[in-house]
Amino acid sequence: MAQEKSGEITLQSMKQLVDGQLPYAEVKKIVHATSKDKDRIQKYLEVLQARVQWRDPILLRLSEHLYIVRKNSNRRIVKCDCGHEFDDYRINWKLGCRIRVRTTEEDLAEVYATKCRPDPTLVEVREFYCPGCFAQLAVEVVPRGYPVQFEFLPDLDALYRDWLGKPLEDESADWFQDRSSTLNTKWAKQK
Ligand SMILES: [Zn+2]
Repeated sequence: MAQEKSGEITLQSMKQLVDGQLPYAEVKKIVHATSKDKDRIQKYLEVLQARVQWRDPILLRLSEHLYIVRKNSNRRIVKCDCGHEFDDYRINWKLGCRIRVRTTEEDLAEVYATKCRPDPTLVEVREFYCPGCFAQLAVEVVPRGYPVQFEFLPDLDALYRDWLGKPLEDESADWFQDRSSTLNTKWAKQK
């Protein structure tokens, strides 16, 4: 189905786009359109929501497998498409993963086919896996001992209020804060 000149995207086209099946010419038309439909993100979320087995409303997609969802009426958490629930979205979800750290030449040779690989005396390779389905969710190549990177902490209230014109009902200044240290503090107290 061809797109409108305005750049409006149909639900069917959105499904194709999400699947990587939309012809390039149509993708280009959508991207370059000067007038875009305002409910585009709603269509996107509708397509995503129909593909998961759970009903918690998706607020934003974080990656191929991860979503920020509303849990009950008062929580926003990170959830994997397999159903595994991570913590509050303000806490780096990587801290709830199974983590494989590659620190030696032998470890690295398992994933780098050639000699062109990181120097294990300088860096380590961290692989993050979902505890529910064991999908690989992220990989970091960082100096040894470097803090786990928090890739993306979105300001959901600003997105919904200022860009989509539909403020979330539980809007609060408390949401847009990195709370990862609360988990580190909890772990420290357990020792
Ligand atoms: Zn999973």
